[in-house]
Amino acid sequence: MNNRDRILLMDRSIPTRKAFNFPSSDVPKQKLPNKNILRKKISLPEISQLEIIRYFTNLSRLNFSIDSNFYPLGSCTMKYNPKINEEIASFSGFQNIHPLQDSKSTQGAIKLIKLLQEFLGEITGLKGVSLAPLAGAQGEYSGLLIARKFHSSNNNNKKNIAIIPDSAHGTNPASAAMAGFDVMTVKSDNSGNVDIEDLKKIINEKIAVFMITIPSTLGLFEPNILKITSMVHKYGGLVYADGANLNALLGLIKLNDLGVDICHSNLHKTFSTPHGGGGPGSGPVMVTEDLSDFLPSPIAKVNKASYELFTPNNSIGKINGFHGSFGILVRAYSYIKSLGSEGLKQVSKNAIINANYIQSQLKNEYSLYSDRYCMHETVLSASKQKNKAIKGLDIAKRLLDYGIHAPTMYFPQIVDEALMIEPTESESKETIDNFIETMKNINDEISNSPEIVKSSPHNLPVKRLDEAKAARNPILKR
Ligand SMILES: *Cc1c(COP(=O)(O)O)cnc(C)c1O
Repeated sequence: MNNRDRILLMDRSIPTRKAFNFPSSDVPKQKLPNKNILRKKISLPEISQLEIIRYFTNLSRLNFSIDSNFYPLGSCTMKYNPKINEEIASFSGFQNIHPLQDSKSTQGAIKLIKLLQEFLGEITGLKGVSLAPLAGAQGEYSGLLIARKFHSSNNNNKKNIAIIPDSAHGTNPASAAMAGFDVMTVKSDNSGNVDIEDLKKIINEKIAVFMITIPSTLGLFEPNILKITSMVHKYGGLVYADGANLNALLGLIKLNDLGVDICHSNLHKTFSTPHGGGGPGSGPVMVTEDLSDFLPSPIAKVNKASYELFTPNNSIGKINGFHGSFGILVRAYSYIKSLGSEGLKQVSKNAIINANYIQSQLKNEYSLYSDRYCMHETVLSASKQKNKAIKGLDIAKRLLDYGIHAPTMYFPQIVDEALMIEPTESESKETIDNFIETMKNINDEISNSPEIVKSSPHNLPVKRLDEAKAARNPILKR
């Protein structure tokens, strides 16, 4: 067996090899408990330090990551995670504090929470902010509980409907159902906008909340948003914007100016904190001042020059243990501070131009759901390729062979063979040109040698899997 085939660390074990020498014990030997409750033997790998370093380093290289490859995964905003954020989050004053510590000894940390609340309030125009939610979906859930409590505190208990467009992110209807609303779907029209006529048909006094993803998951701006939000308000409903991806809006549009009452944003997308396998998330919830009394606790405030945490009077309560993902809050704060307001605006402009550049260069080879300028991402369709018996999935797998992470696929569901591509602002023109060329190459391969595409990936340690089998009967060791 050669080393490449020794997948498990145990396969590389050779008796007496060691990676570490323990110092001799400086505490007296203790009597061991009853032998019956001790393990007879545990098998631990015996391996040298160099071997173990190589083993883990090589294992880590089997992964795609933003530090190693272009990662145009739509609706995920896989932007670069600046290393300065990591450095600042590792300051001992941030890293070694405890959430139960007296607030006198954690003034700096609470001040950071307060300032980040203000930044997000400024960016969205929604000044009531809680950083407590631990993920986008938890932000949605918190925001919807706020809507629910708002209506019940106004004795509007009949308001129990959440209207959600069919192009919404999948978490939206799930969160609304969990928060106890009856979900009604409003259709999209041919250009990907909310079908206003359909909305008129279903909207009535029972609407509690209209929940819209902005920009939509088609990567499009909703041109009728002002008409929609005023219609919802006329019926006494609140408008929830899923702003997980604010990457197209920073410094350009404030959600509150569009008539939004409640939103959340993902710090692990828009604000550059690591995600995927890379770490915990954070999905702060932002609301109008009228709704801020319902926010989940804790909220930071200044009181006579000292910073403190408090629970609003009508709070929906706590949605997790302590203060949210504090280390993530530090990273997002550092990102916003290092860019400043002009820098943030440039982020969005670059994210938009990058997505539009890709769209314009690939729209002949692939199809568009709607031929309009896009926002931070573009949704291509592989419907033409499907006529040649190639699926979106095959194209995504073939991209892996070229060292590019697959785009998001088959989402939004209203697009046939969707390939949702989000380049983000981080990437250089050379990287994006390489992606465009690769997508064109793959399209040529589909005409000339489709088998290569169909049986891809060829260059990865794991080849084409039987997806159903891989999910039902996973072999985790190989
Ligand atoms: C990612 C995303 C979510 C969910 O966020 P999580 O942190 O994964 O819970 C919700 N809405 C949109 C539009 C998203 O892109």
